Amino acid sequence: MHRIPVSGPSITEKEIAYVTDAVTNAWYANANVYHERFERAFADYHGVRHAVSLPSCTSALHLSLLALGIGPGDEVIVPDCTWIASAAPVSYVGATPVFADIDPVSWCLSAESFAACITPRTRAVIPVDLYGNVPDYTAISEVAQRHGIAIVEDAAEAAGTRYRGRAAGTFGVTGAFSFHGSKTLTTGEGGMLITDDETVYRRVLVLRDHGRRPGDTMFENREVGYKYKMSSMQAALGLAQIERAEELVTRKREIFGWYREALADCGDLVLNSEADDVRNTYWMVTAIMPARLGGKAESIRRLGEQGIDCRPFFSPLSSLDAYAATPQAQAARARNAVAYAVSAHGVNLPSGLNLTREDVARVAAAVRDLLGAGAMQAAA
Ligand SMILES: *Cc1c(COP(=O)(O)O)cnc(C)c1O
Repeated sequence: MHRIPVSGPSITEKEIAYVTDAVTNAWYANANVYHERFERAFADYHGVRHAVSLPSCTSALHLSLLALGIGPGDEVIVPDCTWIASAAPVSYVGATPVFADIDPVSWCLSAESFAACITPRTRAVIPVDLYGNVPDYTAISEVAQRHGIAIVEDAAEAAGTRYRGRAAGTFGVTGAFSFHGSKTLTTGEGGMLITDDETVYRRVLVLRDHGRRPGDTMFENREVGYKYKMSSMQAALGLAQIERAEELVTRKREIFGWYREALADCGDLVLNSEADDVRNTYWMVTAIMPARLGGKAESIRRLGEQGIDCRPFFSPLSSLDAYAATPQAQAARARNAVAYAVSAHGVNLPSGLNLTREDVARVAAAVRDLLGAGAMQAAA
Protein backbone atom coordinates (compact mmCIF):
# COMPACT_ATOMS: atom_id res chain seq x y z
CA MET A 1 0.00 0.00 0.00
CA HIS A 2 1.33 3.44 -0.93
CA ARG A 3 2.17 6.00 1.74
CA ILE A 4 -0.41 8.75 1.89
CA PRO A 5 1.36 12.13 2.08
CA VAL A 6 0.06 14.80 4.42
CA SER A 7 -0.15 17.40 1.66
CA GLY A 8 0.52 18.01 -2.01
CA PRO A 9 -0.40 20.31 -4.91
CA SER A 10 -2.60 19.99 -7.98
CA ILE A 11 -0.42 20.50 -11.07
CA THR A 12 -2.03 20.27 -14.54
CA GLU A 13 -1.07 20.95 -18.18
CA LYS A 14 -1.95 24.61 -17.56
CA GLU A 15 0.76 25.05 -14.91
CA ILE A 16 3.29 23.20 -17.05
CA ALA A 17 2.44 25.32 -20.13
CA TYR A 18 2.73 28.64 -18.27
CA VAL A 19 6.01 27.71 -16.54
CA THR A 20 7.42 26.41 -19.82
CA ASP A 21 6.54 29.71 -21.50
CA ALA A 22 8.06 31.69 -18.61
CA VAL A 23 11.34 29.80 -18.62
CA THR A 24 11.51 30.14 -22.42
CA ASN A 25 10.42 33.76 -22.91
CA ALA A 26 10.14 35.75 -19.67
CA TRP A 27 13.60 37.30 -19.57
CA TYR A 28 14.96 40.87 -19.81
CA ALA A 29 12.26 43.10 -21.35
CA ASN A 30 9.65 40.41 -20.63
CA ALA A 31 10.95 39.54 -17.16
CA ASN A 32 7.91 40.98 -15.35
CA VAL A 33 5.10 39.85 -17.65
CA TYR A 34 4.03 36.95 -15.46
CA HIS A 35 4.39 38.91 -12.20
CA GLU A 36 2.03 41.56 -13.56
CA ARG A 37 -0.55 39.02 -14.71
CA PHE A 38 -0.34 37.02 -11.46
CA GLU A 39 -0.61 40.14 -9.27
CA ARG A 40 -3.58 41.52 -11.29
CA ALA A 41 -5.43 38.19 -11.20
CA PHE A 42 -4.71 37.76 -7.47
CA ALA A 43 -5.89 41.29 -6.63
CA ASP A 44 -9.06 40.86 -8.74
CA TYR A 45 -9.85 37.49 -7.14
CA HIS A 46 -9.68 39.14 -3.69
CA GLY A 47 -11.41 42.37 -4.70
CA VAL A 48 -8.49 44.62 -3.70
CA ARG A 49 -6.46 47.28 -5.50
CA HIS A 50 -2.92 46.00 -5.02
CA ALA A 51 -1.08 42.69 -4.86
CA VAL A 52 2.71 42.39 -4.55
CA SER A 53 4.33 39.04 -5.34
CA LEU A 54 7.08 38.08 -2.87
CA PRO A 55 9.40 35.15 -2.08
CA SER A 56 7.30 34.06 0.93
CA CYS A 57 4.48 34.88 3.30
CA THR A 58 7.12 35.53 5.95
CA SER A 59 8.47 38.41 3.84
CA ALA A 60 4.91 39.72 3.28
CA LEU A 61 4.41 39.93 7.06
CA HIS A 62 7.88 41.48 7.53
CA LEU A 63 7.18 44.19 4.92
CA SER A 64 3.73 44.82 6.42
CA LEU A 65 5.23 45.58 9.84
CA LEU A 66 8.01 47.72 8.33
CA ALA A 67 5.51 49.69 6.22
CA LEU A 68 3.45 50.37 9.36
CA GLY A 69 6.59 51.67 11.09
CA ILE A 70 6.50 49.05 13.84
CA GLY A 71 9.77 48.56 15.71
CA PRO A 72 11.52 48.39 19.10
CA GLY A 73 9.26 49.19 22.05
CA ASP A 74 6.10 48.18 20.17
CA GLU A 75 3.99 45.12 20.96
CA VAL A 76 2.21 42.99 18.34
CA ILE A 77 -0.43 40.46 19.36
CA VAL A 78 -0.41 37.05 17.65
CA PRO A 79 -2.42 33.91 18.41
CA ASP A 80 -0.40 31.38 20.42
CA CYS A 81 -1.18 28.46 18.05
CA THR A 82 0.23 29.18 14.60
CA TRP A 83 3.30 28.55 12.48
CA ILE A 84 6.24 30.57 13.87
CA ALA A 85 6.29 32.62 10.64
CA SER A 86 3.35 34.63 12.06
CA ALA A 87 5.51 35.86 14.96
CA ALA A 88 9.11 35.79 13.67
CA PRO A 89 8.69 39.01 11.59
CA VAL A 90 7.64 40.81 14.79
CA SER A 91 11.00 39.80 16.23
CA TYR A 92 12.82 40.78 12.98
CA VAL A 93 11.70 44.43 13.37
CA GLY A 94 12.69 44.46 17.05
CA ALA A 95 9.12 44.55 18.36
CA THR A 96 7.69 42.19 20.98
CA PRO A 97 5.22 39.41 20.15
CA VAL A 98 2.44 38.91 22.69
CA PHE A 99 0.73 35.51 22.52
CA ALA A 100 -3.07 35.55 22.85
CA ASP A 101 -5.30 32.53 23.36
CA ILE A 102 -7.34 30.87 20.61
CA ASP A 103 -11.08 30.28 20.33
CA PRO A 104 -12.15 26.72 21.25
CA VAL A 105 -14.37 26.37 18.15
CA SER A 106 -12.61 28.21 15.30
CA TRP A 107 -9.09 27.53 16.73
CA CYS A 108 -8.24 31.09 15.57
CA LEU A 109 -7.44 34.19 17.65
CA SER A 110 -9.95 34.73 20.46
CA ALA A 111 -11.34 38.28 20.33
CA GLU A 112 -11.67 38.31 24.15
CA SER A 113 -8.07 37.22 24.68
CA PHE A 114 -6.90 39.76 22.07
CA ALA A 115 -8.70 42.53 24.01
CA ALA A 116 -7.19 41.30 27.30
CA CYS A 117 -3.63 41.39 25.87
CA ILE A 118 -3.76 45.05 24.79
CA THR A 119 -1.40 47.48 26.53
CA PRO A 120 -0.45 51.09 25.73
CA ARG A 121 2.41 49.67 23.62
CA THR A 122 0.19 47.51 21.35
CA ARG A 123 0.52 48.70 17.74
CA ALA A 124 -0.76 45.78 15.68
CA VAL A 125 -2.47 42.40 15.78
CA ILE A 126 -1.78 39.51 13.39
CA PRO A 127 -4.88 37.29 13.30
CA VAL A 128 -4.20 33.95 11.58
CA ASP A 129 -6.74 32.17 9.36
CA LEU A 130 -5.77 28.81 10.82
CA TYR A 131 -6.18 25.70 8.65
CA GLY A 132 -8.45 27.63 6.25
CA ASN A 133 -10.86 28.93 8.90
CA VAL A 134 -11.22 32.54 10.11
CA PRO A 135 -11.55 34.19 13.51
CA ASP A 136 -14.55 36.41 14.36
CA TYR A 137 -13.44 39.39 12.28
CA THR A 138 -16.47 41.45 13.35
CA ALA A 139 -15.37 41.31 17.00
CA ILE A 140 -11.64 41.58 16.24
CA SER A 141 -12.08 44.61 13.97
CA GLU A 142 -14.25 46.31 16.58
CA VAL A 143 -11.62 45.84 19.32
CA ALA A 144 -8.77 46.89 17.00
CA GLN A 145 -10.60 50.01 15.85
CA ARG A 146 -11.53 51.05 19.38
CA HIS A 147 -7.85 50.90 20.42
CA GLY A 148 -6.30 52.23 17.19
CA ILE A 149 -4.52 48.94 16.50
CA ALA A 150 -3.58 47.95 12.93
CA ILE A 151 -4.65 44.53 11.65
CA VAL A 152 -2.16 42.55 9.55
CA GLU A 153 -3.94 39.40 8.39
CA ASP A 154 -1.97 36.16 8.08
CA ALA A 155 -4.02 34.41 5.39
CA ALA A 156 -1.23 31.96 4.48
CA GLU A 157 -3.52 28.98 4.95
CA ALA A 158 -6.76 30.51 3.71
CA ALA A 159 -6.68 31.30 -0.02
CA GLY A 160 -10.32 31.28 -1.13
CA THR A 161 -11.80 31.38 2.39
CA ARG A 162 -14.72 33.78 2.88
CA TYR A 163 -16.25 35.47 5.90
CA ARG A 164 -19.66 37.10 5.33
CA GLY A 165 -18.96 36.96 1.60
CA ARG A 166 -15.62 38.78 1.89
CA ALA A 167 -12.32 37.13 0.96
CA ALA A 168 -9.83 36.14 3.66
CA GLY A 169 -6.81 38.42 3.43
CA THR A 170 -8.93 41.60 3.18
CA PHE A 171 -9.67 42.14 6.89
CA GLY A 172 -6.53 44.12 7.68
CA VAL A 173 -4.41 46.95 6.30
CA THR A 174 -2.55 44.15 4.57
CA GLY A 175 -3.16 40.46 3.99
CA ALA A 176 -0.30 37.97 3.62
CA PHE A 177 -0.47 34.72 1.64
CA SER A 178 1.92 31.77 1.27
CA PHE A 179 2.49 29.64 -1.82
CA HIS A 180 4.71 27.10 -0.09
CA GLY A 181 4.42 23.63 -1.63
CA SER A 182 1.96 22.50 1.05
CA LYS A 183 -0.48 25.38 0.62
CA THR A 184 -3.78 25.38 -1.32
CA LEU A 185 -2.27 27.53 -4.10
CA THR A 186 1.43 26.95 -4.64
CA THR A 187 4.41 28.38 -6.52
CA GLY A 188 6.88 25.98 -4.85
CA GLU A 189 7.96 28.78 -2.54
CA GLY A 190 6.36 32.21 -2.69
CA GLY A 191 4.04 34.73 -1.13
CA MET A 192 1.78 37.70 -1.79
CA LEU A 193 0.91 40.89 0.07
CA ILE A 194 -2.45 42.48 -0.72
CA THR A 195 -3.65 45.93 0.32
CA ASP A 196 -6.02 48.77 -0.54
CA ASP A 197 -3.79 51.30 1.25
CA GLU A 198 -1.83 53.43 -1.26
CA THR A 199 0.78 54.60 1.27
CA VAL A 200 1.52 51.09 2.49
CA TYR A 201 1.64 49.82 -1.11
CA ARG A 202 4.19 52.47 -2.19
CA ARG A 203 6.32 51.87 0.91
CA VAL A 204 6.31 48.10 0.30
CA LEU A 205 7.48 48.56 -3.31
CA VAL A 206 10.52 50.55 -2.16
CA LEU A 207 11.37 48.32 0.81
CA ARG A 208 11.18 45.10 -1.23
CA ASP A 209 13.65 46.31 -3.90
CA HIS A 210 16.76 47.48 -2.00
CA GLY A 211 15.31 50.93 -1.38
CA ARG A 212 14.80 51.77 -5.05
CA ARG A 213 11.79 53.67 -6.35
CA PRO A 214 9.57 51.62 -8.72
CA GLY A 215 10.87 52.09 -12.28
CA ASP A 216 14.34 53.21 -11.18
CA THR A 217 16.89 52.30 -13.88
CA MET A 218 19.86 54.30 -12.55
CA PHE A 219 20.44 52.11 -9.45
CA GLU A 220 19.59 54.93 -7.09
CA ASN A 221 19.11 53.32 -3.72
CA ARG A 222 17.52 55.84 -1.37
CA GLU A 223 17.82 53.66 1.71
CA VAL A 224 18.91 50.17 2.71
CA GLY A 225 16.04 47.80 1.93
CA TYR A 226 15.45 44.15 1.20
CA LYS A 227 15.53 41.87 -1.84
CA TYR A 228 12.09 40.25 -1.73
CA LYS A 229 11.06 39.05 -5.17
CA MET A 230 9.81 35.89 -6.80
CA SER A 231 11.02 34.53 -10.14
CA SER A 232 9.06 34.57 -13.42
CA MET A 233 8.74 30.80 -13.30
CA GLN A 234 7.11 31.00 -9.86
CA ALA A 235 4.81 33.82 -11.01
CA ALA A 236 3.75 31.76 -14.04
CA LEU A 237 2.95 28.80 -11.78
CA GLY A 238 1.02 31.12 -9.47
CA LEU A 239 -1.00 32.59 -12.37
CA ALA A 240 -2.13 29.11 -13.40
CA GLN A 241 -3.05 28.33 -9.78
CA ILE A 242 -5.07 31.51 -9.16
CA GLU A 243 -6.94 30.92 -12.44
CA ARG A 244 -7.89 27.52 -10.95
CA ALA A 245 -8.54 28.84 -7.42
CA GLU A 246 -12.25 27.99 -7.26
CA GLU A 247 -11.58 24.50 -8.61
CA LEU A 248 -8.89 23.93 -5.94
CA VAL A 249 -11.11 25.28 -3.16
CA THR A 250 -13.97 23.04 -4.30
CA ARG A 251 -11.58 20.09 -4.17
CA LYS A 252 -10.44 20.96 -0.62
CA ARG A 253 -14.05 21.19 0.51
CA GLU A 254 -14.88 17.90 -1.18
CA ILE A 255 -11.99 16.16 0.61
CA PHE A 256 -13.19 17.53 3.95
CA GLY A 257 -16.72 16.32 3.13
CA TRP A 258 -15.42 12.79 2.57
CA TYR A 259 -13.71 12.82 5.98
CA ARG A 260 -16.74 14.30 7.73
CA GLU A 261 -18.96 11.60 6.30
CA ALA A 262 -16.54 8.76 7.05
CA LEU A 263 -15.98 9.93 10.65
CA ALA A 264 -19.52 11.20 11.34
CA ASP A 265 -20.31 8.69 14.08
CA CYS A 266 -17.01 9.11 15.96
CA GLY A 267 -18.55 11.07 18.80
CA ASP A 268 -15.43 11.96 20.75
CA LEU A 269 -13.50 13.23 17.71
CA VAL A 270 -13.65 16.94 16.81
CA LEU A 271 -13.04 18.06 13.20
CA ASN A 272 -12.63 21.59 11.74
CA SER A 273 -15.67 23.81 12.27
CA GLU A 274 -17.44 26.03 9.77
CA ALA A 275 -19.67 28.84 11.04
CA ASP A 276 -22.79 29.78 9.02
CA ASP A 277 -21.21 32.97 7.69
CA VAL A 278 -17.87 31.31 6.72
CA ARG A 279 -16.66 29.39 3.70
CA ASN A 280 -13.85 27.32 5.25
CA THR A 281 -11.31 26.03 2.70
CA TYR A 282 -9.96 23.31 5.04
CA TRP A 283 -6.29 23.74 4.17
CA MET A 284 -5.58 20.93 6.65
CA VAL A 285 -8.30 18.54 7.74
CA THR A 286 -7.66 18.46 11.47
CA ALA A 287 -8.87 16.06 14.14
CA ILE A 288 -8.73 16.78 17.86
CA MET A 289 -8.33 13.31 19.33
CA PRO A 290 -9.82 12.32 22.67
CA ALA A 291 -7.39 12.67 25.57
CA ARG A 292 -7.49 8.91 26.25
CA LEU A 293 -5.31 8.34 23.12
CA GLY A 294 -2.39 9.93 24.95
CA GLY A 295 -1.59 13.04 22.89
CA LYS A 296 -0.89 14.00 19.30
CA ALA A 297 2.58 12.44 19.00
CA GLU A 298 1.23 8.99 19.86
CA SER A 299 -1.62 9.26 17.30
CA ILE A 300 0.80 10.47 14.60
CA ARG A 301 3.15 7.57 15.34
CA ARG A 302 0.38 4.98 15.13
CA LEU A 303 -1.05 6.40 11.89
CA GLY A 304 2.48 6.55 10.49
CA GLU A 305 2.78 2.80 11.05
CA GLN A 306 -0.22 2.40 8.72
CA GLY A 307 1.54 4.38 5.97
CA ILE A 308 -0.37 7.58 6.73
CA ASP A 309 1.63 10.78 7.13
CA CYS A 310 0.13 13.29 9.57
CA ARG A 311 1.34 16.48 11.21
CA PRO A 312 0.89 17.83 14.71
CA PHE A 313 -1.45 20.75 15.44
CA PHE A 314 0.85 23.76 15.95
CA SER A 315 2.22 23.78 19.48
CA PRO A 316 1.76 27.08 21.32
CA LEU A 317 4.60 29.45 20.40
CA SER A 318 4.88 30.21 24.11
CA SER A 319 5.93 26.57 24.64
CA LEU A 320 8.75 26.55 22.08
CA ASP A 321 12.42 27.17 22.90
CA ALA A 322 12.45 30.08 20.42
CA TYR A 323 10.20 32.11 22.73
CA ALA A 324 9.78 30.12 25.98
CA ALA A 325 12.16 32.22 28.09
CA THR A 326 10.52 35.57 27.26
CA PRO A 327 8.22 37.22 29.83
CA GLN A 328 5.45 37.25 27.18
CA ALA A 329 5.69 33.47 26.79
CA GLN A 330 5.59 32.97 30.56
CA ALA A 331 2.43 35.07 30.79
CA ALA A 332 0.93 33.19 27.83
CA ARG A 333 1.51 29.79 29.45
CA ALA A 334 -0.52 30.92 32.44
CA ARG A 335 -3.28 32.51 30.32
CA ASN A 336 -3.83 30.39 27.20
CA ALA A 337 -5.70 27.32 28.48
CA VAL A 338 -7.51 26.69 25.17
CA ALA A 339 -4.34 26.82 23.06
CA TYR A 340 -2.68 24.24 25.32
CA ALA A 341 -5.73 21.95 25.50
CA VAL A 342 -6.50 21.90 21.75
CA SER A 343 -2.94 21.69 20.52
CA ALA A 344 -2.03 18.76 22.78
CA HIS A 345 -4.43 16.41 20.96
CA GLY A 346 -4.70 17.95 17.47
CA VAL A 347 -3.57 16.02 14.38
CA ASN A 348 -3.55 17.28 10.77
CA LEU A 349 -4.76 14.41 8.58
CA PRO A 350 -3.65 13.98 4.94
CA SER A 351 -5.23 16.84 2.97
CA GLY A 352 -3.34 16.97 -0.35
CA LEU A 353 -5.24 18.00 -3.47
CA ASN A 354 -4.56 14.66 -5.19
CA LEU A 355 -6.12 12.51 -2.45
CA THR A 356 -8.66 10.00 -3.71
CA ARG A 357 -11.84 9.02 -1.95
CA GLU A 358 -10.20 5.62 -1.37
CA ASP A 359 -7.23 7.31 0.34
CA VAL A 360 -9.59 9.18 2.64
CA ALA A 361 -11.49 5.97 3.39
CA ARG A 362 -8.18 4.32 4.34
CA VAL A 363 -7.22 7.20 6.65
CA ALA A 364 -10.68 7.26 8.22
CA ALA A 365 -10.55 3.49 8.84
CA ALA A 366 -7.17 3.90 10.55
CA VAL A 367 -8.50 6.75 12.70
CA ARG A 368 -11.53 4.66 13.64
CA ASP A 369 -9.17 1.84 14.60
CA LEU A 370 -7.27 4.23 16.84
CA LEU A 371 -10.48 5.31 18.51
CA GLY A 372 -11.48 1.72 19.08
CA ALA A 373 -14.59 2.11 16.92
CA GLY A 374 -13.43 -0.85 14.87
CA ALA A 375 -13.09 -3.04 17.94
CA MET A 376 -16.53 -2.01 19.18
CA GLN A 377 -18.10 -2.90 15.83
CA ALA A 378 -16.39 -6.29 15.82
CA ALA A 379 -17.77 -7.02 19.29
CA ALA A 380 -21.31 -5.98 18.33
C1 LIG B 1 2.95 28.63 5.76
C2 LIG B 1 2.65 29.71 6.75
C3 LIG B 1 3.39 30.90 6.82
C4 LIG B 1 4.68 31.10 6.12
O1 LIG B 1 4.65 31.03 4.77
P1 LIG B 1 6.06 31.05 3.99
O2 LIG B 1 5.61 31.26 2.58
O3 LIG B 1 6.69 29.72 4.22
O4 LIG B 1 6.86 32.17 4.51
C5 LIG B 1 2.97 31.90 7.67
N1 LIG B 1 1.91 31.75 8.46
C6 LIG B 1 1.16 30.62 8.45
C7 LIG B 1 -0.02 30.53 9.34
C8 LIG B 1 1.53 29.56 7.61
O5 LIG B 1 0.83 28.42 7.64
